[in-house]
Amino acid sequence: MKNFDVSVREVGLRDGLQIHPTFMPTASKIAWIEAAAAAGVGEIEVTSFVPPKLLPQFLDAEEVSRRALAVPGLTVAALIPNSRGAERGLALGVHKLNFVMSVSRTHNLNNVRREREESVADFRKIVELVKAQPGARRPRIVGGLSTALGCSFEGRIAVADVVKYALLLAEAGADELVVADTVGYADPAQVRAVFKAVMAEVGTLPLAAHFHDTRGTGLANVDAALECGVRAFDASLAGLGGCPFAPGATGNIVMDDLCFMLDSMGLTTGVDLHKLLAVREIVRAALPDIEMHGALARAGLPRNYQSASERAAAAAAA
Ligand code: ZN
Repeated sequence: MKNFDVSVREVGLRDGLQIHPTFMPTASKIAWIEAAAAAGVGEIEVTSFVPPKLLPQFLDAEEVSRRALAVPGLTVAALIPNSRGAERGLALGVHKLNFVMSVSRTHNLNNVRREREESVADFRKIVELVKAQPGARRPRIVGGLSTALGCSFEGRIAVADVVKYALLLAEAGADELVVADTVGYADPAQVRAVFKAVMAEVGTLPLAAHFHDTRGTGLANVDAALECGVRAFDASLAGLGGCPFAPGATGNIVMDDLCFMLDSMGLTTGVDLHKLLAVREIVRAALPDIEMHGALARAGLPRNYQSASERAAAAAAA
């Protein structure tokens, strides 16, 4: 796999679709995945291994995963709520399993009906299960901390709590961590405080940021996380998704706008902006009722825009 300055991970197929009431046809999900990969998106969270009874949007999790795994060079990730989900991911050979718990006690109790310590214990068991796989079949196991920058039940979350659970997941054997602003409460000052504190404790463990643009602070938060040294970001095409606790709220940060901002800053992502914008049409055609966001799609690229890699090549030739 090629190395870029920043890795962007598409989460729209999971985070973006999970509360959408209309089922996105499996063929359209696969078309979206293939087109995003062709546009240069290197990693996609393609589905969630929750019980289909709970979220019918993901009743095709197996087929979507299998088809995504056939896309050359693509890192295929999936959300797992528990060890049953991990087993489904392992059976398919998914590259990355994203386990999620909430830093907020109330949110964790509401979401998975567990104390946070019980979630950490679940994660330890899942890591054991994953690490028992033979080398070639062993996925990377990711520890996700949702509501780390705010919770719709508890409001602000103490930085010390985020650090505590980040450390516990790291010690349990996570290959990577994701710190998530699940409900879009974060601001850049808070992002700096939280990410600096977590990074000071977990050392060189890869750390990704997952922001929602619910209150318009999404890309500012990306910039703050970049300043802290974060080089992996989740986003969803057209900012799909919303928040179950905030009706009408926008979703994840907009993948297209994120890639534009990074590229314009001179940070390569591997994504071709024109090709990425064209992927929106696949989503629009499949889900005419879904709300799509995006400033780049509205305004277009600046006049005479040169991509980060074009500018780097021109500078090297000069
Ligand atoms: Zn999210």
